[in-house]
Amino acid sequence: MTNIPFFPADVAPCLLDWYGQSGRDLPWRKTRDPYRIWLSEIMLQQTTVTAVIDYYHRFLTKIPTVETLAAVPLEDVIDLWAGLGYYSRARNLHAAAKLVVEQFGGCFPEDVETLQQLPGVGRSTAGAISALAFDRRAPILDGNVRRVLCRLFALQEPPRSTAAEKQLWQWSEQITPAENVHDYTQAIMDLGAMVCVPRKPLCDKCPLSELCQAHKFGLEQQLPLKQVAKQIPTRHEVVLLIDHRGRYLARRRLAEGFLGGMWEFPTVSLLEGEDPESKLCLLFSDFGLEGAAKQIGHSQHVYSHFRLKSEIYCKKIADLSHVAEGNNRWLPLAELKNIALHGAHKKVLIELQKSGV
Ligand code: SF4
Repeated sequence: MTNIPFFPADVAPCLLDWYGQSGRDLPWRKTRDPYRIWLSEIMLQQTTVTAVIDYYHRFLTKIPTVETLAAVPLEDVIDLWAGLGYYSRARNLHAAAKLVVEQFGGCFPEDVETLQQLPGVGRSTAGAISALAFDRRAPILDGNVRRVLCRLFALQEPPRSTAAEKQLWQWSEQITPAENVHDYTQAIMDLGAMVCVPRKPLCDKCPLSELCQAHKFGLEQQLPLKQVAKQIPTRHEVVLLIDHRGRYLARRRLAEGFLGGMWEFPTVSLLEGEDPESKLCLLFSDFGLEGAAKQIGHSQHVYSHFRLKSEIYCKKIADLSHVAEGNNRWLPLAELKNIALHGAHKKVLIELQKSGV
């Protein structure tokens, strides 16, 4: 392990002093209920506090306990999540609630190892739940804490590399105090969110500035080092917007599988170099349509493991009598904006609005 140029035990007292005066007053901090803390931690993954607060209250009003969550259909959870993004979180939340009820009798486990058995709960989220709900000593390493540690210890390699990951967890473990873990965990999260921010960290307001190695060597703006973007494949599809007097045909994906339970427009996949219009025929045939569709644009969206490029066509119809709509629904634009359309088709919707057809 690398030598540490200060006493790790000095970090927590500085943070706790600062937290007492400057910590944020957030709704999930008024409780030790593991269900509420777990919900807030999942909602906060890759999402800002400001975006989460209303969703958190709305979710708890409709689904106040882990038992209620386990009992509702997945579609209800997806609908409550609409607009928050990263919908795999909603699917995992639902699956994890069932596990808590069926395997743990409705009681959340307290230790990090068992918490990690819950879908969507990685080591850092497990640490946060364990520390915040049960005051157990458990290090965390979310995005904010990762940035703080990269700077505090002046880590000179991309923070997602295997070696860096191991080193960062060791440092997080070393600076986590044996007592008052609840407040310490909130404090280090707040420091990353309010002071040690991605661009232009506020070092003159930072309780760790005397310990911080990045600050000492003027490296605050250079650290963490940039991660090299990973290569992902590109997939192609044709999307057909069937427009009946301003209402569009949309369907819900099956609950199981990728983007399960989310909404989308009729679509068919396309091979690279294939003519989109040849594939449109398949969609026309599925819905009993005739004539031509107008191309209104294209869009692309990046998922974690592939990029999806969409060729977008629109077909206006005046008469519904020959259209095979199956389990699909006709929805106006205002409603489409509020349902849980998956990310690629949110962009399709934006293209539709831009096209003015
Ligand atoms: S001194 Fe600056 S770079 Fe270092 S932890 Fe504080 S805010 Fe971040």
